[in-house]
Amino acid sequence: MMEIQCIDCQQTSSDPLAWRCEACGGVLDFSAYPPFDADAIDAHDFSLWRYRAWLPVEQHVSLGEGLTPLARVRISDDDLLLKLEYLNPTGSYKDRGTVTMMNHMASHGVTNVVEDSSGNAGASVAAYSTALGIHPRIYVPAHGSARKKALIEHVGGELMEIGGTQEAKTIAARQAAATIPYASHAYSPYFVLGQMTVAFEVWEQCQRTAPDVIVTPLGHGGLFLGFARGFALLHAAGYVERVPTMIAVQSDHSDPIVRAYETGTSDPAPISTGQTIADGIIVADPVRGRAVLEAIATTGGAAFRVSDAAIQSARATLARHGYVAEPTSATTLAALPQVRAHVGTSASVVLALTGNGLKYI
Ligand SMILES: [Zn+2]
Repeated sequence: MMEIQCIDCQQTSSDPLAWRCEACGGVLDFSAYPPFDADAIDAHDFSLWRYRAWLPVEQHVSLGEGLTPLARVRISDDDLLLKLEYLNPTGSYKDRGTVTMMNHMASHGVTNVVEDSSGNAGASVAAYSTALGIHPRIYVPAHGSARKKALIEHVGGELMEIGGTQEAKTIAARQAAATIPYASHAYSPYFVLGQMTVAFEVWEQCQRTAPDVIVTPLGHGGLFLGFARGFALLHAAGYVERVPTMIAVQSDHSDPIVRAYETGTSDPAPISTGQTIADGIIVADPVRGRAVLEAIATTGGAAFRVSDAAIQSARATLARHGYVAEPTSATTLAALPQVRAHVGTSASVVLALTGNGLKYI
């Protein structure tokens, strides 16, 4: 039986639209996931809905999300696999989790939502909400990227520009969430659920095997846990011999997970963040930090930090090979020397490219 539980007090949530524990305010998560059955894949569906038999969500709307390419590239004599998540409908991996979160909310009759995001998540939630006939109100920092704000409005989002610090927009959204359902990419268990399909795809794209290593940028941990939990299900069902080594990459101006990994603690402490060009992963207190550290520990993984200079250089390298990724995505390539030092030169490595660089040109 799939239940939604608090990760702190273990209380089962009775409200399908709750974004945090009604009892203690803790983070909610599924107590278990349905087992994965490869025979149930709908091979005629070329989106993530090819796994509809597994997904515990009814589809009201799809924008064709998922089934993104796994490209092979040779960079500086290193053979790599690039999972092109930036080719999702609104230009980021967020769509993979937004589609399950918003379809779930539509099943419960939601007509209005709030979300706080200055970037990819705001555009993604706005687009899927609009397609479902749900009114999206998106809280953004007043000083945020004008192009990303324009994209949110372009796909039907009502922009709520909040002055002050980065945190101010989150506080404003949470106040609104007292009366309007909160479509939070950071908190919703249904967001992580959709992210798990990325693992099933990579498994199919690797001739039904697991790559040795997965590298993702890390903000709240949604995509990282999608990979880790998806491969854990494949392992539980006997389809892969082991879960890939999971490696998280953060900016050296926003590195709470790296600090926790280095000190060996299982519970990351909130930090004060600085500015970085990797603006998609400026997160002081990752919502799913404990689960991320556990996945790192159980897979022999690691967490590495990279500088803006290294990110810039990696992004330019990707562009020279024809891949137009946003700075946040380039953190994965920027960390490659550290990744190779950790896993060796012969391991097969997948880098997740999460956001479309066209939003930055
Ligand atoms: Zn609780």
